[in-house]
Amino acid sequence: MKCPFCTAPDTKVTDSRASTNGDVIRRRRECEVCVRRFTTYERVEEVLPLVVKKDGRREVFDRQKVLGGLRRACDKRAVPLARLEETVDTLERELIDIGDKEISSKRLGELVMARLRAIDPVAYVRFASVYRQFRDIDELRTEIDRLAELAEQTDQTSGSSTRLARSVPVERRHGS
Ligand SMILES: [Zn+2]
Repeated sequence: MKCPFCTAPDTKVTDSRASTNGDVIRRRRECEVCVRRFTTYERVEEVLPLVVKKDGRREVFDRQKVLGGLRRACDKRAVPLARLEETVDTLERELIDIGDKEISSKRLGELVMARLRAIDPVAYVRFASVYRQFRDIDELRTEIDRLAELAEQTDQTSGSSTRLARSVPVERRHGS
């Protein structure tokens, strides 16, 4: 590595040590020409994509933010937190596998929604209403009808009760 003081091309490493959690390596270096010392830090390049927001700003993928959105959508729903954490784990692995350097916040929202729909239809509609911003009430109604149909099909095949139809009025009574 080039010396930052005299720009000599060779510097020698006098000491290397990893940070406590091992993701950063600190190296003490000494210039062989001017003998001045400096420190460099080496860290593993982030493998998760940057999230590109609607206004074009980039931000690092924030696991807590995704989990927070899921938790809000699942408020008062019978969904264990561990299930949501697993969902974010799977999502992270998938993003790493895809290997893109960037992902739009819209696409990220869709990936989260697809998973939430399989977990809890009511939470899905809540999440979707925030992230997709249904253009109008008809679009929202169409989505709810589609989910109700899906629930009915599940009833016919498995004989279970219609979760969606029953839980929506309960939500309203609580008024939250
Ligand atoms: Zn130097």
